[in-house]
Amino acid sequence: MARLAQTAGLTDVQEEILSTVRAFVDKEIIPHAQALEHADTYPADIVEGMKEMGLFGLTIPEEFGGLGESLLTYALVVEQIARGWMSVSGVINTHFIVAHMIKQHGTDEQKRDYLPRMATGEVRGSFSMSEPELGSDVAAIRTRAVRDGDDFVISGQKMWLTNGGTSNLTAVLVKTDEGAEKAHRNLTAFLVDKPEGYGEVAPGLTIPGKIDKMGYKGVDTTEMVFDGFRVPAGRVLGGQTGRGFQHMMDGVEVGRVNVAARACGIALRSFELAIEYAQQRRTFGKPIAEHQAIAFKLAEMATKVEAAHLMMVNAARLKDSGARNDVEAGMAKLIASEYCAEVTQEAFRIHGGYGYSKEYEIERLMREAPFLLIGEGTSEIQKTIISRGLLRDYRSRG
Ligand SMILES: Cc1cc2nc3c(=O)[nH]c(=O)nc-3n(C[C@H](O)[C@H](O)[C@H](O)COP(=O)(O)OP(=O)(O)OC[C@H]3O[C@@H](n4cnc5c(N)ncnc54)[C@H](O)[C@@H]3O)c2cc1C
Repeated sequence: MARLAQTAGLTDVQEEILSTVRAFVDKEIIPHAQALEHADTYPADIVEGMKEMGLFGLTIPEEFGGLGESLLTYALVVEQIARGWMSVSGVINTHFIVAHMIKQHGTDEQKRDYLPRMATGEVRGSFSMSEPELGSDVAAIRTRAVRDGDDFVISGQKMWLTNGGTSNLTAVLVKTDEGAEKAHRNLTAFLVDKPEGYGEVAPGLTIPGKIDKMGYKGVDTTEMVFDGFRVPAGRVLGGQTGRGFQHMMDGVEVGRVNVAARACGIALRSFELAIEYAQQRRTFGKPIAEHQAIAFKLAEMATKVEAAHLMMVNAARLKDSGARNDVEAGMAKLIASEYCAEVTQEAFRIHGGYGYSKEYEIERLMREAPFLLIGEGTSEIQKTIISRGLLRDYRSRG
């Protein structure tokens, strides 16, 4: 059972955190995931359990009340949680990205104000770049903030905001007028405090209802409409306008490791279900696992699970070392999400007709996997990032 997705060289603390999380996933998440997902119910009890375990503060420095753990620890935790139910990892992912951005780029006051409350889960973060007209092309953002006395006034529409209704802090990337020639230098990230909920949650700020999605249910994904919403100038991340693109891209780099980790978790669970089913289901007088066609599928699935895990761990360790990991995070995200789509598909085929029944977990995993091909940058965007990095490093001398 425990042969795949092992990680060499972990500390005792990391091993302990992982074994606690694995037990929590097996006991508190897997048995409830199908019912909660089918009913599109927010996993409130599971979120409370994660708060108690300190997972909301996993990577927040100890001086701010967190556990001060690395991106690697976080990614391995996410892999386990997604093995149980991807939506639960969605609850902490945007929170983690926002905490990372504040930790790395926030002013001292912003760190003191937000990080201790984020560590306990009292403040829960979401992050917003996408708009109805754009996702990949971030520099084309239209939502605009204009200075007015001590405030900025924001107007425009955001789209695809994971945890939009259940978070109370959103890092929002908007256009400010810096007069820079390059569009991405005219973007600024704001820390927007807001109440949880839907409708006009504050003057000039509306969170319409949840978007009805194909999968990734339970966790809410929303739009966010600004209409003359006022934010104090002190809520500009890092205190300086025009740096938002860089701040968000740093957040997205760790987010990509996170998406890779989710893909690893879903692929691992699909493999576990498939290898179990293949030994139970009999055709032509023997378990289907004894038909070579099925056995070979299992071998290929396990190899993909293993390869994706190793690349995800490599990308996390690189970022932890302080190095930029744009290429490695892109590679890990690309391969893990593509392999995840393939492994879930093969696990589905192994289940035969039962894979199409809502009684079997694989139908949910099949609906979760495609999101990973899109979220935190599509596969095409990952290939763009990877090839740019390679052409930079392997520049022709000819
Ligand atoms: C469930 C869900 C949750 C999300 N949560 C969030 C969130 O919390 N915050 C947030 O900001 N966003 C979020 N997103 C948005 C997500 O990041 C975008 O959907 C994603 O970046 C793709 O953008 P798009 O949908 O506008 O597609 P587009 O950018 O319109 O792309 C459409 C297609 O064209 C391809 N394409 C685009 N440009 C190029 C190019 N230069 N070369 C080759 N191919 C290209 C793409 O790969 C894709 O296949 C979420 C999306 C979903 C579905």
